[in-house]
Amino acid sequence: MLGAGIIKGLRITARNLIGSYHDPNRLTTQQYPEEPARLPANYRNFPFLVLDAPSPDEEGTLRCIACKMCERECPPQCIRIEAARDENGKLQRRPKIFEIDISICMGCGICVEVCPEYSIEMDHHFEVVETERHQSLLLNLQRLSKPNAYFHQINPNKATASDKAIAEKKQKAAERFATTKAHTPKDSK
Ligand code: SF4
Ligand code: SF4
Repeated sequence: MLGAGIIKGLRITARNLIGSYHDPNRLTTQQYPEEPARLPANYRNFPFLVLDAPSPDEEGTLRCIACKMCERECPPQCIRIEAARDENGKLQRRPKIFEIDISICMGCGICVEVCPEYSIEMDHHFEVVETERHQSLLLNLQRLSKPNAYFHQINPNKATASDKAIAEKKQKAAERFATTKAHTPKDSK
């Protein structure tokens, strides 16, 4: 029927208009900055690094193993990682330097997709205005690291899924280790 689409659209508008008087969640206008912005869980701005902590009061450990996959895949090449070394110069599975230049980052989320350790995630923090564009927009390890509890706060479903995937990965690794140990001849130990 001619004009059916217009009638359908107007019906939805009218339903939302009337519905918003009864249910404040249907109001789409947000009174930002007077009130904090309500962001959808999958909103993405700039990345942050997840810190696993045994309890919210304890200092966490970075999930990142400095594999540099994100650094390689980042389209504008705004990530710089340098792995830590021990006293003998042997490379460690943790970063010594991890920097993201958010004056270049385009928030694409590719670093999140390629990370095998669920270590890098997209943040909701968007109030990043600075008066200088070099040092202030170059985020270092300290500024990038945020606890897993924060990740649960901003994106609970994804944070829970990551925790589950990490636990399964650890379980499989433990099983593999036990099988290999059981099949290793005693005289080769
Ligand atoms: S979000 Fe995209 S541009 Fe930004 S650091 Fe990750 S891969 Fe690079
Ligand atoms: S954030 Fe992930 S992909 Fe990037 S270096 Fe760390 S473990 Fe590798």
